Amino acid sequence: MIVITDLDGCLLDARTYSWEAHRETLADLKRRAVPVVFCTSKTRAETEALRREMGNDDPFIVESGGAVVLRDRTIVLGTPYPEVLFAFDQLKAATGARGFSDMTPEEIAADCGLTIERVRLAKQREYDEPFRCAVDPTAQAVALGFRCSKGGRYWHLHGDTDKGKAVRALLRAAGGGPTVGIGDSMLDLHLLEATDVRCAIARPDGTHDEVLEANFPDLRRFSNWSEAILGTVLSP
Ligand SMILES: [Mg+2]
Repeated sequence: MIVITDLDGCLLDARTYSWEAHRETLADLKRRAVPVVFCTSKTRAETEALRREMGNDDPFIVESGGAVVLRDRTIVLGTPYPEVLFAFDQLKAATGARGFSDMTPEEIAADCGLTIERVRLAKQREYDEPFRCAVDPTAQAVALGFRCSKGGRYWHLHGDTDKGKAVRALLRAAGGGPTVGIGDSMLDLHLLEATDVRCAIARPDGTHDEVLEANFPDLRRFSNWSEAILGTVLSP
């Protein structure tokens, strides 16, 4: 079994970003040599800091499928950040969007409830620009030859990448399976499409994402990350 999991709202608490509640479960998975692959919209710098904290040394996927980081190499799937920013400048002119690159670390910290140190890591972007936008920017993004996704707080502008493509690239390169996918929002739609077992974690209000529910008749609903692991990987 391989666990492929989103971080925010899944392994990390949606409000506090803490993974403390799942320390025992992670240790259990490690004892059983079950890989836990992080598949996140976070940057490589942010994800590496979290992996160090948690003692995770499995491959991982960053910036919503921008790159797959294996032990000995990195598979780049995303469009380089300078090209994304070049397109973002045009998107900005058309929509009034405001991106991570326009915001100070203090502004982002206040927005996301992250420490300044974590924001510095979050600003080290390689393939994807998060931004605020009052209107739906999808049409402009597509006209520029890019893709747009909607996350919790931000829109994201990026090349032709998604978490599902990255999961498939990782499995092709590293082998393995069967896979258990864990997500909490429509940003995880393609992640769950690419895994054998699909788990949705409840949002802070206790409900599950409607897009995930509508797309997967076999979706398994859980109230938190450890419960999903216990219900799938560690179940007798
Ligand atoms: Mg999430």
